[in-house]
Amino acid sequence: MSAMNDPLTPLSGSFDFTMEKPMPTHLLAIAVGDLHFGEIGARTGVYAEPEVLSAALAEFEDTEDMVVTAESLLGPYPWGRYDMIVLPPSFPFGGMENPRLAFITPTLIAGDKSLVSTVAHELAHSWTGNLVSNATWRDLWLNEGFTTYFTNRIVEAVYGKEQAELEVVLEYGRLQQELASLPLEAQTLPANVQQQDPNLAFNRFTYDKASMFVHELERRLGRSDFDKFLYDYVQHFAFKAITTEVFFDYARQTLLVEHADKLSEAQLLAWVYEQGMPASFQPPTSTSLDKVDAALSKFLQFGELASDSTQTWTVHHWQYFLNALPEQLSQEQLMQLDEQFDFTHSTNAEIACDWFRVAIRNHYDPVLPLLGQFLVRIGRGKFVKPLYSELMINGYHSEVKAIYQQARGGYHPSIVVQLDNLLAG
Ligand SMILES: [Zn+2]
Repeated sequence: MSAMNDPLTPLSGSFDFTMEKPMPTHLLAIAVGDLHFGEIGARTGVYAEPEVLSAALAEFEDTEDMVVTAESLLGPYPWGRYDMIVLPPSFPFGGMENPRLAFITPTLIAGDKSLVSTVAHELAHSWTGNLVSNATWRDLWLNEGFTTYFTNRIVEAVYGKEQAELEVVLEYGRLQQELASLPLEAQTLPANVQQQDPNLAFNRFTYDKASMFVHELERRLGRSDFDKFLYDYVQHFAFKAITTEVFFDYARQTLLVEHADKLSEAQLLAWVYEQGMPASFQPPTSTSLDKVDAALSKFLQFGELASDSTQTWTVHHWQYFLNALPEQLSQEQLMQLDEQFDFTHSTNAEIACDWFRVAIRNHYDPVLPLLGQFLVRIGRGKFVKPLYSELMINGYHSEVKAIYQQARGGYHPSIVVQLDNLLAG
């Protein structure tokens, strides 16, 4: 439970949980299963079914380092232990930051630690989200924006600046994709959730526009002044739930007094309340992607992607490459990429999902059997929602019907509701 668990409790009889600190109700969670425990560090560990425990421990072995890094930025870890539990693949989220016991999707276990920034994200919530919480779902950006930024700082400290930069560029790419499809009134930081499903607050604006805003604050103030602001903000509102307006009042009394030369109230207001991205926004870049851009343009021009040019690419470079491919590709181009890099059989769920989207929109049908298996095996919303959408848009109605019939029973009810709507439309 998201409370004090003794890792050595016998796995029979009754279980008792205590939580002596105040926490928001959305963080109350309990899991039941054949759960075994493995230790990472003195106060960190993993609960999982025996079949995945050792792989999870290897994948998440840097968690104790992440906790130490986070503490150096935002003060002592406030919740005692930091354990994770690996949920079944039907778990609809990447992770859920339940205090003392973050719930984690098994799709993060890629074998190379390439997707562990989600672990850093759930850990970051221990301060931004769980210690300082949004008061209503309208204010979700306070949780997710600060956490997405703070995740990036943990990744930078543990895995280096290059990976941290790449992750910000990929975040911005996701935000741009949504800029095209999300209605303007949904493009502000406070979510427009009145009379709507609170699920709609969980969009890329709440996460990535909000984190771009926090990056912008850091850029304007300089890192050391910004770090002081962030630390003071978290300590000031510890164990409280706040609204956007309370945050704004605090910013008026601190940021706008101490850094009036670097930041104006009008600029803050524009970021938070105006739709879309402010005119002053500078998109993130990474020089590490120059080689990907060069390889991509060579591929499009000459039809080849030399293996020696891609040898040093990480999962992040490949994600960027797949998302930068033009809307339309020929069957020959897709076949060549697939023969050379075997994306269709990728065991990295992010790569597989990005590739399947490219394949579906270009009617590259050799992916269909593996895509079907992927959708039956995995129920994470981040993957299944865009894949079903892409299939529907591209006319794969009978395939969708067959796959969904097989997969629906394994999905989480919150995903079923959304997919039923999507597929009925
Ligand atoms: Zn989050």
